[in-house]
Amino acid sequence: MLILLEPGVGEAVAADLTARLRMFGLAVHRTSHEGQIRIAAMGDRAAAVDWDEVGNWAGVESLRRIPVPFKLVSRVYHPDDTQISVGRCAVGGVQLSLIAGPCSVEGEEQAFTIAAAVAKAGATALRGGAYKPRTSPYSFRGLGEEGLKILRRAADAHGLAVVSEVLDTELVPLVARYADVLQIGARNMQNFALLRAVGHADKPVLLKRGLAATIEEWLMSAEHVVSQGNSQVILCERGIRTFETYTRNTLDLNAIPVVKELSHLPVIVDPSHGTGIRNKVAPMARAGIAAGADGLIIEVHHDPDHAMSDGAQSLYPAQFEELVGQIRTIAEAIGRRV
Ligand code: PEP
Ligand code: MN
Repeated sequence: MLILLEPGVGEAVAADLTARLRMFGLAVHRTSHEGQIRIAAMGDRAAAVDWDEVGNWAGVESLRRIPVPFKLVSRVYHPDDTQISVGRCAVGGVQLSLIAGPCSVEGEEQAFTIAAAVAKAGATALRGGAYKPRTSPYSFRGLGEEGLKILRRAADAHGLAVVSEVLDTELVPLVARYADVLQIGARNMQNFALLRAVGHADKPVLLKRGLAATIEEWLMSAEHVVSQGNSQVILCERGIRTFETYTRNTLDLNAIPVVKELSHLPVIVDPSHGTGIRNKVAPMARAGIAAGADGLIIEVHHDPDHAMSDGAQSLYPAQFEELVGQIRTIAEAIGRRV
């Protein structure tokens, strides 16, 4: 239930109402919109609450049901777009966030070469996995902490923020020490222990859509993170599995306007994993921005033929630079900027 307080109700009254709702055994969260405090109260015990009585409590203006299962990430609870600070960019603001870099951090020279190239092209953050989820146990699994150190140094040398994947709960403090954004991979979208752990971290979370997840399941995963107190969640559409075999995944760009309507969270597009094919990345990146995404995350490699992972879908630096120019043109047409 969403409880709208009367305009001008102060902190003491809001705190008291929050405490009373918690005594019903409900999870209670607060936000404000146009100067009005809004309290969301959720949980199985809500069915037993006499809401007419709550509606008569001093300071309460009105009650509204939140008609979706993802409560805190819904626009009903929080009508305004959420903006999340990542380095010098506010993800979800007018400026598009352009996250680029290798699939995996492979070494000092590789990371610095790619960081220099993507920074010059206009990227706002450097991506790179130090802990990699791999289908085969015999594939390269990342450089671990050494990879995070390299990524951080390469990003700092070029004024970029760092985005890196956290594979499991024990790694959250370590990845959070080096990265500005904690990436939750598609395979972990419903790893509820991990969602809970990043929900307690004080870093933004980039939540990829699961390979076979509905939009509602994806938003419910975001709800898990936000319900733990971390409201800084950036959603990422990275393609879903369908019957199609000419592309690695099917990039679901329907999800962009759908999520934008349902949720206040920013949403970006990953056309690299979404297509799996280098020459399909730029068209789908352009389409993603045209569809209203708040940014892109793109794999870039200077020597993709020798990349340790995802070389076939990695753009050459010059291709990324050309794409940024095209994105700039599209951004202008839709009231955004690079
Ligand atoms: C990645 O970003 O390199 C990655 C493994 O992505 P996903 O979880 O979307 O497959
Ligand atoms: Mn990858």
